[in-house]
Amino acid sequence: MKKTFFLLTLSSLILSCTKVKEPSTTLKTNEFAIVIHGGAGTILKKNMTPEKEAAYKAKLKEAITTGYNILKNGGTSLDAVEKTIHIMENSPLFNAGKGAVFTHNETNEMDASIMNGNNLNAGAVAGVTDVKNPISAARKVMTNSNHVLLSGKGASIFAKEQGLEIVEPSYFFTEKRFKSLQKIKEKEKTALDHDTKSAFYDPEIKDSKYGTVGCVALDKKGNITAGTSTGGMTNKRWNRIGDSPIIGSGTYANNKTCGVSSTGWGEYFIRAQVAYDISAQMEYQNKSLKEATKDVIQNKLTKLGGTGGVVALDKNGNMSFEFNTAGMYRASMDDKGELIIKIYKN
Ligand code: ASP
Repeated sequence: MKKTFFLLTLSSLILSCTKVKEPSTTLKTNEFAIVIHGGAGTILKKNMTPEKEAAYKAKLKEAITTGYNILKNGGTSLDAVEKTIHIMENSPLFNAGKGAVFTHNETNEMDASIMNGNNLNAGAVAGVTDVKNPISAARKVMTNSNHVLLSGKGASIFAKEQGLEIVEPSYFFTEKRFKSLQKIKEKEKTALDHDTKSAFYDPEIKDSKYGTVGCVALDKKGNITAGTSTGGMTNKRWNRIGDSPIIGSGTYANNKTCGVSSTGWGEYFIRAQVAYDISAQMEYQNKSLKEATKDVIQNKLTKLGGTGGVVALDKNGNMSFEFNTAGMYRASMDDKGELIIKIYKN
């Protein structure tokens, strides 16, 4: 009898020791919330003018307030993400839609994706040249096709059939981005080695990289949506596609865990499966959003040599902004309407 009691106590002790640790955040922080980014990179205060900084902040505010109002009025996170991203796609400040960077052939090829955390449905487009708002094309792929990712001409034909606005490719031209391409091409000519990496990502050319936009929203029903839209990287060639339209890399959402939108050097984000890894660490290791985003960006991505960051929201409305670059345009609004906008590290 005594022996059985001893064994029972011992086994329950062992069980309690090996029991999976409780998620560190089980309480609802926000009934609904929204986070956005406008790209990460070498964004330094010393290279900013007060006017430029004010312009970025005003646009980030306009974008996030649009999504916030949708959520506050009981709208869906899908609508909030799409409409918020429209504001940034329509602004020449960001590398998405109007303001997209140029390819080596002096064209603009845009990528976008969206994911619904409620049912894990997702849609994406890559290399579109004439769809005014690529994020809407991604949403249509998700809701009105049997596919997840459409590319190039086919994606444009689909978008047109869906009644989306198609524009002349010249609509996407901006002087600033065109100049960045010329500068990179000049450098490329004189470079000793024709390493495409250095051509794409010359840190001395401030506007040559990043500027992608992204949004994650949690609505009052507990549904998480994440979306990302980009022009990719300056001087990209051969119909290069980055991480932004790749589900699991640039975008991921799962109501059980979190929603993530990435920005940075796409090749590394694809290889590290950044967005999905964050969700997976929460699901399988019971990590908090903060722990998971920190590990993926500051540890795993950094070790690979990748640069960039993410904005993320968990199912309880906790937020995370993690990046390993000098800055990341970012903003958040909680269910009380508190707005935070930041650009630099601290
Ligand atoms: N991730 C994007 C790409 O590689 C670029 C960016 O986020 O700025 O296409």
